[in-house]
Amino acid sequence: MSTNSRPILFKNGLVLTMDNSHKILHNGDVLVVDGIIKEVGYNIAAPADAIEIDASGGIVMPGLIDTHRHMWQTAMRGYGADWTLSQYFVWYYLQHGKSFRPQDVYAGNLLGAIEAIDAGVTTTVDWSHGLQSTDHADAAVDALEEIPGRFILGYGNIQAGPWEWSAKPEFKDFIKRRIDGKGDMLGFQMAFDVPGDPTFPEKAAFEVARDLGVAVTTHAGVWGATNDDGIRLMYENGFMNENTIYVHASTLTDDSYNRIAATGGNVSVSTESEQSAGQGYPSTWKLRQHDIQVSLSMDTSVWWSGDLFTAMRTTVGADRSREHLEAHAKKETISALHMRCEEAVDWATRGGSRALKMDSKIGSLEVGKKADVILIKNDASPVMFPILNSYGHVVMQAQRGDVHTVVIDGRIVKQNHQLVDSKLAKAKKAVQETVDYLREQMGEETWEAGMHPEVPETKLNENPYTYTTFDSGSADWKKK
Ligand SMILES: [Zn+2]
Repeated sequence: MSTNSRPILFKNGLVLTMDNSHKILHNGDVLVVDGIIKEVGYNIAAPADAIEIDASGGIVMPGLIDTHRHMWQTAMRGYGADWTLSQYFVWYYLQHGKSFRPQDVYAGNLLGAIEAIDAGVTTTVDWSHGLQSTDHADAAVDALEEIPGRFILGYGNIQAGPWEWSAKPEFKDFIKRRIDGKGDMLGFQMAFDVPGDPTFPEKAAFEVARDLGVAVTTHAGVWGATNDDGIRLMYENGFMNENTIYVHASTLTDDSYNRIAATGGNVSVSTESEQSAGQGYPSTWKLRQHDIQVSLSMDTSVWWSGDLFTAMRTTVGADRSREHLEAHAKKETISALHMRCEEAVDWATRGGSRALKMDSKIGSLEVGKKADVILIKNDASPVMFPILNSYGHVVMQAQRGDVHTVVIDGRIVKQNHQLVDSKLAKAKKAVQETVDYLREQMGEETWEAGMHPEVPETKLNENPYTYTTFDSGSADWKKK
């Protein structure tokens, strides 16, 4: 009998249900039958053929949900680690994004999908803006369907206007062929930005989304790219609604936040991204003031980790950092923090399920919901003991290497730190071919230059205390 059809019983774990009351069970059990959470409680008797998983010393919680990840870019993992946003735009939008063939989108998506489930991210929005043709889109979905995670394809194409690609008959044909009838393992959104052209050409694409009944996800409030004009155009034309996901929403005025709040939208915060690329300050401190719903995301592995533990940790840090700074500017001291680790865990689970309008199915460990369950446990790690503050432990101590077991839709996809039926070797081969191809296309000099943007000169401050020439040699590497 396959692991799919046998019941699964997590025994004796610290269970974070993430239900509406955030109920926690110590030494609790979670029983999964037929892909559904059948029981959450204590001393649950194992059905005869159940797979029992010893969760003692570990944390059982709902799978993590990422609402914005450019999975096709995983093929270029780490390449842009030192980029700014404008360097990214030049590389992908203007120079090299169009070199990606369908098989390159497939390669990135396959590795990115494996990366997600391995790290306990059971649902991922693939913000797929490299779909220059429906052949590319087919390739993206081929990869997503090969990996047993829950995915939402955010269909986009940075090489054309959304009013162009969404009007093509093959776009609607693609949805019919590849998305319709796939249920909640493969969802669909339209992914495009609204830079603020007063003629609002994006209107046609929003109308297509409305006709199809699909959500729009859009990079909003991105310094130098999208701003209040885009939000205003969307609002005035009636296209802001509670299905809309605003990615980043960093550089916006209160007026725009009010419009998002009033229409029930969700903001996907990618703190790792905003902190180094330059979209604007990670917005949770502002969103809180407007009571706007938050989900978390990691954006792209071309720069950052594909890891929602890091997303939670950086988001808590950025929010607290801002709160302290705002107070210090007024000569005040923060004596109690708004941003709690518990809230970050909520954003990484329920925040995602609410944003995706899948909250009745996933996001918490409650009877009747789909069984997307992860166990964080690592007996060999000194960091997994003691577990005193459960939410604090998830956010500040745990990491993706501690993800012991992952169950998605009732199926064990990772057990005892090992992916089940892993396609990793296949993904590595495909990505290697993509890397070789792009490197060849670009030539060695361009390839190297893209990875190592120029470093601006650091202007040293005058130091009145200098009375000797001192050189530690610590910066010798910069002189090479
Ligand atoms: Zn993005």
